[in-house]
Amino acid sequence: MATRMRVITTIILHCSDSDIEAHDNIETITNWHLLRGFSSIGYHYFINKQGSIFNGRPVEKIGAHCAWHNIDSIGICLSGEQLFNVEQFLTASILIKDLMQKFGIEQKNILPHNYFNAYKTCPNFDIDRIISLL
Ligand SMILES: [Zn+2]
Repeated sequence: MATRMRVITTIILHCSDSDIEAHDNIETITNWHLLRGFSSIGYHYFINKQGSIFNGRPVEKIGAHCAWHNIDSIGICLSGEQLFNVEQFLTASILIKDLMQKFGIEQKNILPHNYFNAYKTCPNFDIDRIISLL
């Protein structure tokens, strides 16, 4: 039986919280999440420092990236703690534009992780750097 598509209304932006070169890959992030007891990587997409995109958890599956807000959202993680670049923002904007069209997501529902959890600084960048490119 095919997996039924869930309703997706929101895109939540994250960072990997590391500028260490050895962490700039989806395998490292996946390992971190497996160590935390997740079944797989919690994000649906990962964008490395070169602006290349990697598929994480399939979008039809509920992610594990934002407490209480996973059920109807897609989680996108940009590699970095403080050092982000325009290639990453450009890739993110292209991906987000595509997801907005595919799932009918409104621009107001593209939000940073710390919108939902004020105790977090994630994603550590101003999401207008992506929104302005849409
Ligand atoms: Zn986050």
